[in-house]
Amino acid sequence: SGGQAQREIPFAQPGSLTKVFAIASGKGGVGKSSVTVNLALSMAKQGLKVGIVDADIYGHSVPAMLGVADHRPTQVDDLIMPVPTSTGVSVISIGMLKPRRDQVVAWRGPMLDRALVQMLADVYWGDLDVLLLDLPPGTGDVAISLGQHLPGAEVVVVTTPQEAAAEVAERAGTMASMMHQRVVGVVENMSFLPCPHCGPEHQLQIFGSGGGDRVAATLSERFGYTVPVLGRIPLDTSLREGGDVGKPIVDSDPTAPAAVELEGIAAKL
Ligand code: ADP
Repeated sequence: SGGQAQREIPFAQPGSLTKVFAIASGKGGVGKSSVTVNLALSMAKQGLKVGIVDADIYGHSVPAMLGVADHRPTQVDDLIMPVPTSTGVSVISIGMLKPRRDQVVAWRGPMLDRALVQMLADVYWGDLDVLLLDLPPGTGDVAISLGQHLPGAEVVVVTTPQEAAAEVAERAGTMASMMHQRVVGVVENMSFLPCPHCGPEHQLQIFGSGGGDRVAATLSERFGYTVPVLGRIPLDTSLREGGDVGKPIVDSDPTAPAAVELEGIAAKL
């Protein structure tokens, strides 16, 4: 009979019990992937079953941050099994859909759309409580595809305190709203550096200040509902190191202020 019927996306079905959060940012390097993996681990620690779809075509750094950079998903019949991690969070990354890891793929609209649907519909996720999607930065094709396939997804916008970052973060939030997704809050990352000399109450504003508040205020006014700042994560060497070695800070150094803040944000979602 020819072509294969397209499998439906379980998270888009009316009775779906899985909460879907898309983690968005205006530009790269603001910590979107770090926030995604640490929120996922925080939720897993709360006892929730959590999956991550890494749809960041530019970075796809989530597997490395979870210590499974070289892992490939297995296939059972025509279903793809997500890659399990020691944290209990399972993950599928757009980077895993490439035939070879070092291959460069110029993902474009229709191909990206297919890849996104594949990660949502052809992966055996089981009964997840929460699915987190790490979006590419900006307002591109993936955000549009996601809005079309999962309009019920809620969006978390990550920004730094910097004016330029906040401005593009507002655009990413507005894009989500145009796709009928609700923006549930703003995470300000790299908010300050606790002074290593005079003590943590002295906060050095390395990237300026006000970005999170600015994005929250602009989006609240634009959408007509309150978009809160969910938290402010300080700069922390152990957060960066945790990402580099595949042991996110909420597991490797849970009493660090950045980890405590991340767990607080997860508890609000
Ligand atoms: P994005 O996904 O927005 O491109 P990443 O999460 O990959 O950003 O973060 C970029 C780099 O900054 C990574 O090396 C990460 O470890 C580091 N980083 C992110 N947030 C913090 C923070 N609060 N403190 C220290 N380093 C951070």
